[in-house]
Amino acid sequence: MKTKYDLIVVGGGFAGTAAAIEAARQGTDVLLIEKYNCLGGAAAYALVSPFMAFWTHIGEDKKRQNLAGDLFLEIVDEAMKLTARSEDTPMIRDALFDEESMKLAMLRMARKAGVTLLFNTAVTAVTREKGTLRSVKAICKAIDMEFFADHFIDATGDAELSYLAGCTCEVGREGDGQCQPMTLCFRVGGIDKEKFTADRARMQALYKQWQADGRIKNPRENVLVFRNYNEGVMHFNTTRVIKKSPVDPFALTEAEIEAREQTYEMMHFLRSAVEGCENARLLSTALHIGIRESRRVMGEYVLCEEDLIALRRFEDAIAAANYAIDIHSPDGSGTRFQEFSDGEWYEIPYRALLPKGFDNLLVAGRCISSTHEAQASYRIMPFCAELGQAAGCAVAVAKRSGRNARTVNVKDVQAILRTKGFVI
Ligand SMILES: Cc1cc2nc3c(=O)[nH]c(=O)nc-3n(C[C@H](O)[C@H](O)[C@H](O)COP(=O)(O)OP(=O)(O)OC[C@H]3O[C@@H](n4cnc5c(N)ncnc54)[C@H](O)[C@@H]3O)c2cc1C
Repeated sequence: MKTKYDLIVVGGGFAGTAAAIEAARQGTDVLLIEKYNCLGGAAAYALVSPFMAFWTHIGEDKKRQNLAGDLFLEIVDEAMKLTARSEDTPMIRDALFDEESMKLAMLRMARKAGVTLLFNTAVTAVTREKGTLRSVKAICKAIDMEFFADHFIDATGDAELSYLAGCTCEVGREGDGQCQPMTLCFRVGGIDKEKFTADRARMQALYKQWQADGRIKNPRENVLVFRNYNEGVMHFNTTRVIKKSPVDPFALTEAEIEAREQTYEMMHFLRSAVEGCENARLLSTALHIGIRESRRVMGEYVLCEEDLIALRRFEDAIAAANYAIDIHSPDGSGTRFQEFSDGEWYEIPYRALLPKGFDNLLVAGRCISSTHEAQASYRIMPFCAELGQAAGCAVAVAKRSGRNARTVNVKDVQAILRTKGFVI
C-alpha cells in the first residue's frame, strides 16, 4: 500500500472532488479519502438538490456570466452526457440534476485525472509537528492506516480534519452558537403533479392550520418542495431540526430521529390533506441529515457579512460568489433571504482558506473561515466546487514552486484561475 502523496484531500463533496481533480490535472499526486462510497458529498449522502444559482449578467448586453469556475460546469456537462435526455433544457442543466449520473461523472473525472480514491474510509486522527501536518490516520473495516503528504486539504464540510489538527473553529452564530437548522431531505413519488401544483397555495394555508392545531410539530414556516430531475418525483427539503448541535454525536442522533418523525408527519399531511397526493409514497430519505452549517475554521481572514454587502474585492481573491444570504432560522420559524442584484458579486480571499498557524493545510467548501452570515451565502454546491478548485490549484502551484500553502505566490494561483473562468 502506497502511503506517501503530494496532497491528501479529505472529503469527496463538491469541494474535495474539485480540489483533487484540479491538483491532479496540474501534476500533483493526490489521495482523496471519503467516508462514504462515492463522490458528491451532500448531494449524495444528504440528497441535496437542486443547484442554487451560480451566475450573473454583465456588460451592456447583459451577457450571462458563470461565477463558479470551469470545473463545476465540466462536472455538470459530464453528468448530463451520462443521462442524455433529449428533452433536457438549460434550466435542467443549471439547476436540476440526477445525482446518480453526477456520482459516476465525478468518479470518472477523478480517476482520469489520476486521483487515487479511498472510499468507505474515515479520517480519525492526525500527526503534526508545530504548524506542519505530517499524516492522517484513517480506518476502513477495522483496518488502521496512516498516510503522509506534503499538503492537506480539509473538504469535510464539518472541518473534521482541521478540528483533529487542533485548528481554532467556530460553530454557529455569534452570541449563542446556534447553527442553521438541519434538514433530512426526502423524495416522494406517486404525486399527481398538475393537481399538486394547482393546489399549492391551499396546501401552504392548510400546513399553517395543521401547525396551529398541533398536528404538525415541524417549526418550519411552510412546505419547501422542488421539482426533481426524475419525472413524477418531488424533492422535499422541508424538515427542520433546531437547537441541536450538528457536531455533538448524541444531539446529531436526536436530530436524525426528530427529522424522521417530521418526515412521516409530512407524509401523513400530504396524503390526507393535499390535492394530488392521495397516492403519494415515500421513495427515499437521505442517508444522513443535511447539515447547512457546523464548524468554520478560523483562518488568516474571516469573511463576514459586511464584505458581502460591500461586494468587497480582495488583492488575494481566489473565488467569486453571489448567492443570497440565506439563513433558515436557528430559532424555529422564518428564513432570511437577502439577495444580490443582477450583476453583483463579492470575492473570497485566499486567506479565508488558510487556517491560522498552519503552513501545509488548506480548507475548502462550506467550512472555510467566515462568519455565520457569510457562510449562509457561499455554502451552495457550485461555489463549494469553486473553492475546492482554487485550493487544489494553490497546492499545485506551491508544489511546482517549492513553496507551501502559506508561502505560495497567490498572484500565480490567480493567473491560472483566470484562465479557468474565475471572475477575480
Ligand atoms: C438541507 C440542505 C439543503 C441545501 N440546499 C442546497 C441547494 O438547494 N442547492 C445548493 O447548491 N446547495 C444546497 N445546500 C448546501 C450544500 O449542499 C452544501 O453546503 C455543500 O454541498 C457543501 O459541500 P462540501 O464539499 O463543502 O461538503 P460536503 O458536500 O458535505 O462533503 C464533505 C465530504 O467529506 C466527507 N467526510 C467528512 N468527514 C470525513 C472524514 N473524517 N473522513 C473522510 N471523509 C469525511 C463526507 O462524507 C462528505 O462526502 C444545502 C445544504 C443542506 C444541508
